[in-house]
Amino acid sequence: MDYSNIIAKHIASIPRSGIRDFFELVQGRDDVISLGVGEPDFSTPWHIREAAIYSLEKGQTSYTSNLGLLSLRKSIAKYVSRFFHVDYVAEKEVLVTVGVSEAIDLALRALLNPGDEVIYHEPCYVSYSPSIVMAYGKPVTVVTKKEDGFSLKPEAVAAAITPRTRMVMLNFPTNPTGACATREDLEGIAKLCIEHDLIVMTDEIYSELRYDGEEHLSIAALPGMRERTILLHGFSKAFAMTGFRLGYACAPQPIIEAMMKIHQYAMLCAPIMSQNAAIEALENGTPSMEKMRDSYHQRRDYVVKRLNDMGIECHTPGGAFYVFPDISKFGLSSKEFAMKLLEQESVAAVPGTAFGACGEGFLRCCYATGFDDLKLAMDKIEHFISKL
Ligand code: PLP
Repeated sequence: MDYSNIIAKHIASIPRSGIRDFFELVQGRDDVISLGVGEPDFSTPWHIREAAIYSLEKGQTSYTSNLGLLSLRKSIAKYVSRFFHVDYVAEKEVLVTVGVSEAIDLALRALLNPGDEVIYHEPCYVSYSPSIVMAYGKPVTVVTKKEDGFSLKPEAVAAAITPRTRMVMLNFPTNPTGACATREDLEGIAKLCIEHDLIVMTDEIYSELRYDGEEHLSIAALPGMRERTILLHGFSKAFAMTGFRLGYACAPQPIIEAMMKIHQYAMLCAPIMSQNAAIEALENGTPSMEKMRDSYHQRRDYVVKRLNDMGIECHTPGGAFYVFPDISKFGLSSKEFAMKLLEQESVAAVPGTAFGACGEGFLRCCYATGFDDLKLAMDKIEHFISKL
């Protein structure tokens, strides 16, 4: 049977994730040091795991409300108010989702009409452009540059706005660059969104992972923005809970209601054990999170220094757990560099092009890897480039 005609055209047009493709090459190889998949090397803190275990022990194995457990939504509203300084009503402005991944999909599908343009900044997380296409939207890329520390400039956003623009998608700290937004840039972007009546979707999944004592600022907290912002956050990164598959969206009630409609038919609800664990994370998990963050901070400093010392230019990212060094001077494409590094030194890092065409000449290294392995990986990278 010829399957080429039975796959929907817009789905056939989207590529597979460049990260996954690369890591299929690595699977089953114990000799490889992975600076690859963006995942904490910590297990979920024990008290959070225990909350999931207790949930099962108590026989809490049912569906929950489509929106999520009200007790969890109350914890989310309290946490978001304390951490982001934005207030949401737990009963109707918070939706618990299966990871931020689902929340991105829901927000786009709930708001876009076919052909609506969505502005997003590249290099960026691999799902953004495909998720826009899956929602019948049109992705409009704004390239961020190494010279600006990969920050998003309001002028660049302004230049991308057209009469079809509906939404702006933000992600700070950014995967894969670790870039953080300044207040000034966020204010400039907010002003544009108000002037042009645009909705903002802000993916704040790395917001706890800020370094050098800097405080995170969400665009949702700026004057006039709460009413036009969908704030997405989750538990995967800061609480090391990737396998729990839990995230949430906070937004004005009509937006949450529209997202909930898709969620209730496509997903029904997030798993109750994960929801119970998430309450524990929000209520009592901050000290565990801070310990992990301090450890990432040390590793960031180590990796940035090692790369710069060996002659690979690497800006110092303000957040997340990635560095995005410039490898263009070695005369190999990002993919060639990553493949040769894997073949010759058994170190896996992701070619910058997995995060958009403008990632050519860069490599993403995730430093949420044990210190011994990080040191060995840096030694091996140094050895690799000495031969180029
Ligand atoms: N958003 C960004 C920017 C990410 O880097 C990731 C995962 O790497 C996700 C969303 C997906 O998060 P979740 O595990 O909550 O689905």
